[in-house]
Amino acid sequence: MGFEQFGIISFTGVTKTEQFVEFLKNNEICGTVCKGCGARFFPPRTDCNICLSDDVDWFPISGEGNLITYTKAMFAPAGFEKDVPYVLGVAEFSDGIKVFGRLDKSLSDDAVKPGMKVKIRVINLENDRLTYELTAA
Ligand SMILES: [Zn+2]
Repeated sequence: MGFEQFGIISFTGVTKTEQFVEFLKNNEICGTVCKGCGARFFPPRTDCNICLSDDVDWFPISGEGNLITYTKAMFAPAGFEKDVPYVLGVAEFSDGIKVFGRLDKSLSDDAVKPGMKVKIRVINLENDRLTYELTAA
């Protein structure tokens, strides 16, 4: 299996960033960095929208990030209805990399605040599927 293993619902099985799933299997969450201009991307891209290079390296996203903002989804798009409510957030990690993702469901509403320290971790879903989430650091 390839990229179809990513997420609760995967909308494609083939992508140039398929290696992202291999990193998840090794408990790593990676973005890409353009070898042409040094721009960093998360979600990973293999085509740089700045210098148009398609030559990229992978780098791990680790350490602590800062939660910038979040929202609680009370209604969900098709396929995610059984998951609501859930919290989506954006956190900034080192080098300015911003990660958009769900927050750990076990965090109470009171615990989630802009500026809180978060880390990113791999989550194993049913049927050998993988994703990542933000949780308290
Ligand atoms: Zn570039």
